Amino acid sequence: MSERRLLVVYTGGTFGMRDQGSGLEVTDDLGAEIACLVAGYDAQRRTRTRWAFMKSVCVIDSAEATQQTMVDWATEIRLKLESADCDERYTGVLVIHGTDTLAYTAARMAFELADLRLPLVFTGSQLPLHFPGSDAPSNFEYALDALSGTTTGGAWVAFDNQLHPAVRVSKYSSESRSGFASPRALAPVADSTLADAIADHFAEPEVTETRKVGVLSVFPGMASEQVRAALACYPDGLILECYGAGTAPVSTPGILDDLGAAIEEGTIVVAVTQCQTGSVDLSRYAVGSALARAGVLSGGDMTLEAALGKLGYLVGKYLDAPTTRSALASNLIGEMQLSAVSARPGL
Ligand code: ASP
Repeated sequence: MSERRLLVVYTGGTFGMRDQGSGLEVTDDLGAEIACLVAGYDAQRRTRTRWAFMKSVCVIDSAEATQQTMVDWATEIRLKLESADCDERYTGVLVIHGTDTLAYTAARMAFELADLRLPLVFTGSQLPLHFPGSDAPSNFEYALDALSGTTTGGAWVAFDNQLHPAVRVSKYSSESRSGFASPRALAPVADSTLADAIADHFAEPEVTETRKVGVLSVFPGMASEQVRAALACYPDGLILECYGAGTAPVSTPGILDDLGAAIEEGTIVVAVTQCQTGSVDLSRYAVGSALARAGVLSGGDMTLEAALGKLGYLVGKYLDAPTTRSALASNLIGEMQLSAVSARPGL
């Protein structure tokens, strides 16, 4: 009979939702339902799971998540884990989260909580627990399986009998039970020295506000005013979701000038690709080179969610500019295949 002690965190999402007349809405507390699920799991598997339930301060439809919510949840989890007595230490954390922004939260928390070296498994469901044929019980059981020793640490998304690395996963379907996909494999980390040094670097104590980072996805016809507005909204960092190998309509008057000026002022701009596989290579096309000359950094083959989580985490550490840039170009916890950065197919 195996024994472990898990922290089950409920943040909201479809998993516990009910229809109150105007569509699905979150249920504020899910402790009793989770207790039933764990008891059923233990009876079936002949295990004895020691666990504690934690309802996060805000229980939401994950569509309402912000960068601040993700940081707050990470802080809540860290405090709860650190307050456990020595003989009551947790062996893992299971987070129940809405699927819409699950990949964003999982990626951000993968960075924020990497130093804990505990398995952190996220799950959710496409149908609420109370609906006939819901995938919530099976996803929950699979998440418990994932926490039973198959993973030694790191953040994962357990969904439809698949375990996805949190820094490589994206929501794939709004309906299918296979709600998530991670076509890019976890990149092996050769040297964790930089990641460890960053984790040890605490934010300035007087700084409490989450820094302003965001995303702008390029599209045919994008106006320079949109670039300027995005840079104004997110002065600490912007993920530019480019086409293909890292291209954008740089001939549109104003776009390069605005990017260059903001970067000069200290905004970090990172290019990722809108493609589901492959990598950014800013040197492949002249338009990409123009972005690089303006100071845009390559995000390699990072997913949008991982790039945003990594950028938010790094700027929140208030590191000096060269360290932030070097960390962005490094594979800290498996989020970026370094060989992919310079890969040139067919050349
Ligand atoms: N809108 C819901 C949420 O993200 C969808 C889900 O949970 O699957 O909270």
